[in-house]
Amino acid sequence: MEKKGIGTVCVQGGYTPGNGEPRQIPIIQSTTFRYETSEDMGKLFDLEASGYFYSRLQNPTVDTVAAKICALEGGTAAMMTSSGMAANFLAVFNICTAGDHFITSSAIYGGTFNLFNVTMRKMGIDVTFVSPEVSEEELQAAFRPNTKLVFGETIANPALITLDIEKFARVAHKNGVPLIIDNTFPTPVHCRPFEFGADIVTHATTKYMDGHGSSVGGAIIDSGNFNWMAHADKFPGLCTPDESYHGITYAEKFGQGGAYITKATAQLMRDLGVTCAPMTAYYVNLGLESLHVRMKRHAENGMAVATFLENHPKVGWVNYPGLASYKGKALVDKYMPNGTCGVISFGVKGGREGASRFMSTLKMIAIETHVADARSCCLHPATATHRQLSDEELVACGVLPDMIRMSLGLEDASDLIADISQALENA
Ligand SMILES: *Cc1c(COP(=O)(O)O)cnc(C)c1O
Repeated sequence: MEKKGIGTVCVQGGYTPGNGEPRQIPIIQSTTFRYETSEDMGKLFDLEASGYFYSRLQNPTVDTVAAKICALEGGTAAMMTSSGMAANFLAVFNICTAGDHFITSSAIYGGTFNLFNVTMRKMGIDVTFVSPEVSEEELQAAFRPNTKLVFGETIANPALITLDIEKFARVAHKNGVPLIIDNTFPTPVHCRPFEFGADIVTHATTKYMDGHGSSVGGAIIDSGNFNWMAHADKFPGLCTPDESYHGITYAEKFGQGGAYITKATAQLMRDLGVTCAPMTAYYVNLGLESLHVRMKRHAENGMAVATFLENHPKVGWVNYPGLASYKGKALVDKYMPNGTCGVISFGVKGGREGASRFMSTLKMIAIETHVADARSCCLHPATATHRQLSDEELVACGVLPDMIRMSLGLEDASDLIADISQALENA
């Protein structure tokens, strides 16, 4: 499928039925798989043969959808997980364990921020948060001998800051470590981070990929571009024998394109069980079939509403990666020339109070802890998703106290603007 356009991969990637086989992907709703001999089964457990034996590790439906997401990002291997949080956790923990350190942009999803700042510290993994706008010198200064990776989001949720992927990749590679990018907001339809030097991409498929608010899920994709063996001292988990798999060395046995995802599946999925259900994978696939069409509409609605708000006297500020006034306009032009996403943020005059009055006056746009859904919704992060964070941490994440995050869905822009307009007048 690699030579095909992104829309064709959205519709047909990952699955080519044979003669007389189902047109839609089959849902293999089975925990386990039957074999003729124990030798057949033993080979699977030794990773000597590929095949299915237990759906905690791998399932054919889930793998079909992972293959489509892999093709969309232009990677060599991919896996799905139970959530976006699980994807980010596994992506980091696969190469960074107790006693190690990593660097992350501070402009990331609030849940990921907590995972890195609280839970992973408890596991003995240290992290340094850097501004998404750091200079190369400042980023370099954050490195330590035990630094194993750099992490960031293409467009940060909810700060909507665009990351300079090439800059982060350059500094990561100079230090012999990979760059992991959470590409949830633009999706591969609007940005393919591997083309700009990212090594591993993660997704909350919960958002635009599913796109209908139906199921929580995640994905990890490997570009196959990072040479683990060239930095074997930093990545013993990939470059030395795994005793829990009879001494297999992943980077030798599965090569540069397969080692990372094979280890994450065989070891971390086996032990942690953050598995994507076959039914969830099926829903995600339904969403993926229209992802290219929907992303265009989300971006158009985002632009229409952002433009309306920017010209409204009761609105203090508007942030949307697409507006000419957007701070990272040059980065958007470079990384996402065809559009970004449907999420905007803005401040209604009147601060925290004003934000809350405005939101409760909306009629069609609902208050939800969600984004990237067919139905438009909004949220006040300072009192919802980010309420665990201190004021300083809020600012580090790029979240202002009066900030409203609005996710424009697939409705008619004129109706969305009418609802917002009446709420601004009546609040
Ligand atoms: C929602 C989100 C996550 C977490 O995904 P879940 O499926 O809710 O666990 C991670 N990263 C980003 C950018 C998100 O928007």
